[in-house]
Amino acid sequence: MKRVGVFICHCGTNIAATVDVKKVAEVAGEMQDVVYATDYQYMCSEPGQDLIKNAIKEHNLDRVVVASCTPRLHEPTFRKACHDGGLNQFLFEMANIREQDAWVHKDREAATVKAIDLVRSAVAKATKNEPLEMGSIPIERRALVIGAGIAGMQAAIDVADAGYEVVLVDREPTIGGNMVKLDKTFPTLDCSA
Ligand code: SF4
Repeated sequence: MKRVGVFICHCGTNIAATVDVKKVAEVAGEMQDVVYATDYQYMCSEPGQDLIKNAIKEHNLDRVVVASCTPRLHEPTFRKACHDGGLNQFLFEMANIREQDAWVHKDREAATVKAIDLVRSAVAKATKNEPLEMGSIPIERRALVIGAGIAGMQAAIDVADAGYEVVLVDREPTIGGNMVKLDKTFPTLDCSA
């Protein structure tokens, strides 16, 4: 059995006005593998992050789920909090109950049910997560663009402008793709080649 900790964020009233966060935390506490569940005003704040770090130690958590905003915003924040609390950062999962729930619904009851579902999914996923280690490998700072039509040529130019060597290949003996087969282009009647 896993030991999952679940943290439900209010985001002030951003989430709490539409989702019954206390209820979500209560139901989350009864989910399979969940040994600790709570709600908090601002999970991304320092005290919010401390809550995660302390709970990992106090409840011997081996998985953490935060239900809050989009992972694009604070997944790195919470991964770091897990790491600082002694948990591999990839054992963390996030449920987006703000952008994908509170902000797009008006019915509090339905939004709360949806939040519970999103949390249940995140908990299930978290239990399947494996600890991973970050590594780095040397790479060749050179790009290969396959297809020398308009899109391929533009991509090659953009990558080259960014300062990287580009190899552009095409199966035809000439570049230009379909464009080069045209005579003139509307409305300027420029020679397409
Ligand atoms: S973690 Fe996200 S949802 Fe929670 S307070 Fe911070 S910004 Fe708002």
